[in-house]
Amino acid sequence: RTFAELGLPKVLVSALSAAGVEKPFPIQAATLPDSLAGKDVLGRGRTGSGKTYAFVLPVLARLAADGGNRRPNHPRALILAPTRELATQIQASITPLAERLGLRSMTIFGGVGHGPQINGLRKGADIVVACPGRLEDHLQAGHVRLDAVRITVLDEADHMADLGFLPAVRRILEATPADAQRLLFSATLDAGVDVLVRRFMTDPVTHSV
Ligand code: AMP
Repeated sequence: RTFAELGLPKVLVSALSAAGVEKPFPIQAATLPDSLAGKDVLGRGRTGSGKTYAFVLPVLARLAADGGNRRPNHPRALILAPTRELATQIQASITPLAERLGLRSMTIFGGVGHGPQINGLRKGADIVVACPGRLEDHLQAGHVRLDAVRITVLDEADHMADLGFLPAVRRILEATPADAQRLLFSATLDAGVDVLVRRFMTDPVTHSV
């Protein structure tokens, strides 16, 4: 099936095509009908499978459809990743597509200054791609609020568990609306990831690819 047949809005199909992406990978074909329909989705996929677009596309489609106004310090989509390298890669996949939709995305992670991140949040980022530690700093300092978040993604949740991030992830998700859509990608579902699934996901559809 094509991206259009999986339910992807036309503007994203053509933006993907411009990026050289024409045919869905299996993890995308499996998850997109459910994620685009607004369901909570649990994806069992590894790096290299194409899982990044499997969550980036529903995030962008959701914000495009919402058409809500951008507000300072109130992102509408949150993507959590275990490392800055991964956050940077995710951001690189989002940027060309988000530009086509007039949406702004930014990264938040430690090891760099707070100032540019505070400014980016204040200017109004629609999508925040973050590592949990620095995002919590900004939350506690009042630089970001998560009550306008409509969709959350946990990428490499098992890796976040290994790094000890699950308590922070839990506190962050508690700050988002309970009815936000949840997408979670992980190679395994043990080590506490199962607890997150039970706590935050509603009737999740599981796809192993
Ligand atoms: P990921 O597993 O998300 O890191 O993706 C692995 C690589 O595959 C990245 O370079 C993507 O840009 C590329 N990719 C993902 N989906 C597709 C697709 N449907 N067609 C062509 N390339 C893709």
